[in-house]
Amino acid sequence: MRQRRTCALCGTETAGQVVLSLPPTPCANEFVVDKSQRQARYPLDLQLCPSPHCGHLQLAGVVSPSTLFDNYVYASGTSPSFVQHFSDYAKRVIDLFGLDDTSLVIDVGANDGTLLRQFAEHGSTRVHGVEPARGIAEIAESRGIPTTVAFLDPAVARDLRQRFGPAAVVTANNVFAHIGDLEQATAAVRTLLGPDGVFIFEVSYLADVIDNLLFDTIYHEHVAYHTVRPLVGFFARMGMTLFDVERVPTHGGSIRVYVASGDRSVSPRVAELVKSEEEAALFSTSTYESFGKRIRAQGQSLREQIASLKGKGWRLCGYGAPAKLTTLMYSFALDADDFEFIVDDSPLKRGLFTPGTHIPVVGAERLAEVSGRRYCSLVFAWNYYENIVASHESWSGAWLNPLTLDLLDGKAVY
Ligand SMILES: [Zn+2]
Repeated sequence: MRQRRTCALCGTETAGQVVLSLPPTPCANEFVVDKSQRQARYPLDLQLCPSPHCGHLQLAGVVSPSTLFDNYVYASGTSPSFVQHFSDYAKRVIDLFGLDDTSLVIDVGANDGTLLRQFAEHGSTRVHGVEPARGIAEIAESRGIPTTVAFLDPAVARDLRQRFGPAAVVTANNVFAHIGDLEQATAAVRTLLGPDGVFIFEVSYLADVIDNLLFDTIYHEHVAYHTVRPLVGFFARMGMTLFDVERVPTHGGSIRVYVASGDRSVSPRVAELVKSEEEAALFSTSTYESFGKRIRAQGQSLREQIASLKGKGWRLCGYGAPAKLTTLMYSFALDADDFEFIVDDSPLKRGLFTPGTHIPVVGAERLAEVSGRRYCSLVFAWNYYENIVASHESWSGAWLNPLTLDLLDGKAVY
């Protein structure tokens, strides 16, 4: 584990600037086959850059990628709502920048090619994916999306530029929070882009994390928690222009950030968002102190609710085993005594045990087996709460959202 001493976006000294500490956890995606396996836990401390021009929030300790990804159980998220989101996204970008069959779109962290397929279908653009996970890249290739298996770095970027020419658009979704060296990654993106090229990325928005108490999105793979103000300065230093930002609903609240490879007129939305971030005190230590208090209070309320349900003879299970489950379990001091099993729709996780807490992950057929009994399912995949509840209408149990504490009674009510 490497301790960060400087801000990833502006280089200001950040040692000693820890503003929030969550309980240490194992790596959030380290699901295990053997529940007797001991798992190392790593601190989850966040540090806030003290520069009055920046205020970037980042993990203080960065776990090495080999530790994070060696045992990575990855489930590609291609739910219908996700595909719709990418379809709207591609159409909007095609319209905004007048893309056509001469335009090249490169997606970094391209996954199974879902976004690029939308660009190819709606705009007939040329497309190319960059994806480090070979198995996922092969799925993209099989769907007709040419994909380079690699992490994007300057050498890969130079090679792609040479082979395919400059890109009109480079996209990166939910990868900008994962990259430790943002300068190197951004330099590589700049290499890919033509002189009028645009870099567009979506990433979770810290303002939504704070407002909606989405603290469980804090885990070791997410090394950065983005706001607009620090990014404006960062891209200016990289010789680029952050010229527009939109808020989008992905992952409980994200921003879609538009960056030009050169100069471009800047939308008033950028200054408006920076102002709202300053007004919300997102660059002040006190915000994170009160955030920590809200997390602890929520944990207390949830534990009381669980105790009350158990007192009335209910049993508990979970639905969804996403990475954020691990942070929620440890922050709320929940464990295998609380949950009999956790259902996950991904076949890759079934038969495994949750990181550190070692709760068995099973398929949805288990719900049918316990139907008619008093079971309450805590929805760890809260961003799919409505979809999950709607797709299990016949289940007799109750549903509980761990972040809002909304309890949706099943048919077998109290
Ligand atoms: Zn900074």
